[in-house]
Amino acid sequence: MDVILLGIGGMMPMPGRPLASALLRHEGRSTLFDCGEGTQVPLKAGSLGVAHLERIALTHLHADHVTGIPGLLMLVAQGGPRRPLGIVGSDDVCAYVRQTQALLKFHMPYPLAFQSLDPAGGSFRDAHGTLSWQPLEHRVPTVGFRYEEAPRPGAFSVERAEALGIPPGPLRAALQRGESIVVDGRRVASADVVGPPRPGRCVAYVTDTRPCAGAQALLDGCDVAIVEGMFRAHHADQAREKGHLTAVEAATLAAEAGVGRALLTHVSPRYDDAELVLLEREAQAVCPTVELGRPLERIPVPLR
Ligand SMILES: [Zn+2]
Ligand SMILES: [Zn+2]
Repeated sequence: MDVILLGIGGMMPMPGRPLASALLRHEGRSTLFDCGEGTQVPLKAGSLGVAHLERIALTHLHADHVTGIPGLLMLVAQGGPRRPLGIVGSDDVCAYVRQTQALLKFHMPYPLAFQSLDPAGGSFRDAHGTLSWQPLEHRVPTVGFRYEEAPRPGAFSVERAEALGIPPGPLRAALQRGESIVVDGRRVASADVVGPPRPGRCVAYVTDTRPCAGAQALLDGCDVAIVEGMFRAHHADQAREKGHLTAVEAATLAAEAGVGRALLTHVSPRYDDAELVLLEREAQAVCPTVELGRPLERIPVPLR
C-alpha cells in the first residue's frame, strides 16, 4: 500500500508543480483522488500507467479538481476495452463527467461506473478495504476521503505451532485462514496459534476546506494523510474568506488527529519554492510529522 503524490498545486498547474492529486495503490488496484487540468502529465512522467486504475474519486466541482477528466478518460481508452472505471463524486460531479463525455463525443471502449455520494457522508466497502467520505466546509459542496484497509489476519505464532506439533505446510496455512485442524487426533483451533485480527492501514485525502468536524473524522488516527496547506499564516484571513486551510491549520488538525505522517498539498500558486520552505517550517513548528508534499513523491504506508 502506497500513495503517489501526482501534484501539490492549488488553483492552476504551474511549471514543475502539477495540480493537487494523489494515487493510492493497494492490492494491485489504484484509486485516483482528484483530477485537475494536466493530471495525466505526472501519471506519464512517473510511468504509473492506468491499467490498474479502479476509480477516480473527486472532492468537488471546482476546475482545479475535475478538468483533467476528459484527457484522463481518453488516456485510459488507449488501453482498449477494460473493466468499468468508477467515477466517485457528488451528483454535480457525476453530471459534469457525463455531460463532458457526451459533448466531446470521444471514443471510450469501456463503461464508466458512477458512484454518486450522499453529501452527508457514507462509505463503500469491498473485500480489500473501505472508502468513506465526509462533508467538508468550502465554498461549494465538497467531500474529503478516507481509505481503510480491511483488518488483516492476526499474527501466526510459530512457537505455539511447534509446541502443538503442527508441521510447516498446509495445516499451518489452514490455521492462518481461520480454520480448525486435527493433528494426531487432537483438534487445534485457529485462535490457539493465530492472534486477533490486526487493524488495517489508513490513508486520508482532505483538501479545500476550513477546519471542521468532517476533516477531523477523516484524519483521525490515519497512517498517512494528504492535507491542504494552501496559505502561509499571514494569509489566514484569505484562507477563512476563500474556504481553505493554512499550513498551520492543517498541521493543527494533523496533530489533534494523531496522524502518522501528513503531507501538505494544494498550495497557493503565489508562493515560489523558497516561500514553500517557509510554509513547511510554519507547519512543522506545530506538528513535526507534517511536511510539504513533492510531485511524484512515493509515500509507503507501513504495516502497523
Ligand atoms: Zn482547489
Ligand atoms: Zn475548491
